[in-house]
Amino acid sequence: MSENVLRHHPERLLEVSDLTKVFPPRKGFLGRSSGPPVRAVDGISFDIRSGETLGLVGESGCGKSTVTRCILGIDPPTSGTIRYLERNGQVENLTSLSETDRLRFCTDMRIVFQDPQASLNPRMQVVDIVGEVLKVNRVVPRSEIERHVRQLLIRVGLRPEYSHRYPHAFSGGERQRVGIARALATHPRLVVLDEAVSALDVSVRAQTLNLLRDLQEEFGLTYLFVSHDLSVIEYICDRVIVMYVGQIVEIAESSELFARPLHPYTEALLSALPVPDPAYKRKGRRIHLSGEVADPAYRPAGCSFHPRCRFATELCKEKVPPLRTLQGRSVACHYAEELTLQGVHPAPAEAQNA
Ligand code: SF4
Repeated sequence: MSENVLRHHPERLLEVSDLTKVFPPRKGFLGRSSGPPVRAVDGISFDIRSGETLGLVGESGCGKSTVTRCILGIDPPTSGTIRYLERNGQVENLTSLSETDRLRFCTDMRIVFQDPQASLNPRMQVVDIVGEVLKVNRVVPRSEIERHVRQLLIRVGLRPEYSHRYPHAFSGGERQRVGIARALATHPRLVVLDEAVSALDVSVRAQTLNLLRDLQEEFGLTYLFVSHDLSVIEYICDRVIVMYVGQIVEIAESSELFARPLHPYTEALLSALPVPDPAYKRKGRRIHLSGEVADPAYRPAGCSFHPRCRFATELCKEKVPPLRTLQGRSVACHYAEELTLQGVHPAPAEAQNA
């Protein structure tokens, strides 16, 4: 059921509240269930603002892909709400919709996958790959499909005559542009970029990021940018959410997060960031985290990060730190006010001139 727009912040395109996704216990010997259920996402809340690029970062297994799958309706959440501001100003709780009703949001929310090779059917020409989306969603009349595909290819920097090529005839970067054209075919408002440039080499990655920025400006797109690569996140994101074992540990404006992290996990991620640009410098040493990322089926008591945190105390082992507001940001650490953590800073002018 639609809710009144007044209950929704006008800037928010999407609002996630207390989202939880629990998977059944893993299968063990002879296919028997073993162990507890897996809490891949554990009660997280955040919003996505219209026109922004919101980064979602964390190590593999932190739950970031599960979050996007819940938002896109691929996996139903176990609990929580996902409220979406429709074009007509009404707010819809996507989690309360039937599968059929959910389908109408498929055109509004699109995804670009990491591996363009795997996500494009090798037996189909590009005109059919992109045209299929136009046809299924009735974006244009059938007679207009080819012309529309050619226009989309031009818009993503590909030659329109490539429309009759098969995916194998493209380079990795070009294939990803086809993936972007396919995502844009339905005139979406929210595009989820799931490690969308991770498989590309550095120069192609930069070109693709610049293309994404141009498209965002031209079409007023909102991006949810999922990546484990912080250098990419810093380049393209306005705000960043840092996840650890299914929970949010920090949310901040990108520039603030990189200059001065408030959570020790964010600090450790930043300390591993290569700093090739002489205009930037890292303050302090690289922090090597001991141990592995916690298993979400066997989450440590208290702060999930405590077995790897150099500041952990008895309190951290016993009490879960809530995500709270501090200095206009959000952080989940008992000692965030007291810690002085290192970020990646613009070098002072004298250092650059030295
Ligand atoms: Fe480290 Fe404790 Fe903060 Fe968790 S709550 S990040 S263990 S200092």
